[in-house]
Amino acid sequence: MKAQAAIYHGPKQSLTVEEIDVDSPMAHEVLISNAACGVCHSDLHFASGAYPVSAPCILGHESAGVVEAVGSAVTTLRPGDHVVAFNISACGICDLCMAGHPVLCANQHLTQRPQDAAPRYSWKGRDVTGQIMHLGRARQFPVGFANRLLMHERCAVRIAHDIPLERAALIGCAVITGVGAAVNSARVTPGASVAVFGTGGVGIAVIQGARLAGAGRIIAVDIFDAKLEAARRFGATDAVNAARTDAVAEVRRLTAGTGVDFSFEAIGTKKTIEQCFECLALGGTAAIIGGVAAGIRMELDPNFLKGERRLIGVTMGSARYQLDIPRYAELYLRGRLNLDDMISRRIALGGIDDAFRAMQAGELIRAVVMFE
Ligand SMILES: [Zn+2]
Ligand SMILES: [Zn+2]
Repeated sequence: MKAQAAIYHGPKQSLTVEEIDVDSPMAHEVLISNAACGVCHSDLHFASGAYPVSAPCILGHESAGVVEAVGSAVTTLRPGDHVVAFNISACGICDLCMAGHPVLCANQHLTQRPQDAAPRYSWKGRDVTGQIMHLGRARQFPVGFANRLLMHERCAVRIAHDIPLERAALIGCAVITGVGAAVNSARVTPGASVAVFGTGGVGIAVIQGARLAGAGRIIAVDIFDAKLEAARRFGATDAVNAARTDAVAEVRRLTAGTGVDFSFEAIGTKKTIEQCFECLALGGTAAIIGGVAAGIRMELDPNFLKGERRLIGVTMGSARYQLDIPRYAELYLRGRLNLDDMISRRIALGGIDDAFRAMQAGELIRAVVMFE
């Protein structure tokens, strides 16, 4: 079946919009009519070559849409269901899944197509399902920049019909990662002080997660004044422009010298990761969320760590995604999660390159590709 997709051809090359072929669903797969897909910083990392992915391929991984058809063995979804496409698929039965860490599932290959099967997506006869390294293992790229998506049923999570799909799309990466980092990974407590480095889609979601958890002070750190101003609308109580001041010193000044109880890094540079850790109070927790280019190493003072400070890594907000995605949709519907203002720009498939440029210039929280 035919579909439209933005094809990635290699680092620093423009994406092109092409007609592709999407295969029919195998037994456990669902075909989704994609309504919208957010443009994530990780896509930019793939497109710039910072994260290796095979080319040509289709990027994008923050989609929501409507189930169009299901494979013969699908029991959990029906045509017409509204779903968020999650980019990690868990087996549900391995040790990590059983321990409540499905995003670390050891058996994700089970929900991918076997090597000898026809590709899910092809263009001019070539397989355009990208291969990436994830948690040390090769896996197929989830795909979002196409108007039809084909995936294992366990990657598609049903949501209520009344949440608009372009808002729901944001839940699949930015929101589940950011809110989850605050409430699941770091477990922000009521009244706690929080710093958030980076106020793109994920950072804004961390701020909202901290607000939902009842944090007292929420300090947003960025280098763009417009983004810091926007951060206040989502719950930041203070803003620090790290281009003009020493962010660590300023966070300490704002907290009467103690530092913050929880600190989050949603950028992925050596400097901001180190700052995220260095602004912690005694007993505080620093959570590293931002995607980091291969080869980056950080330097930390072990004696500082001994103040009972903790440094944790976050994958997809430590989500139990089948549970969390419908809950975040519900929070949106009850007016407690602001997804409306996270969408800075609605674009067509041909506008992704410009969205990448705008993200680097600090002009957006999220651009969302809208499909017909
Ligand atoms: Zn993402
Ligand atoms: Zn598993």
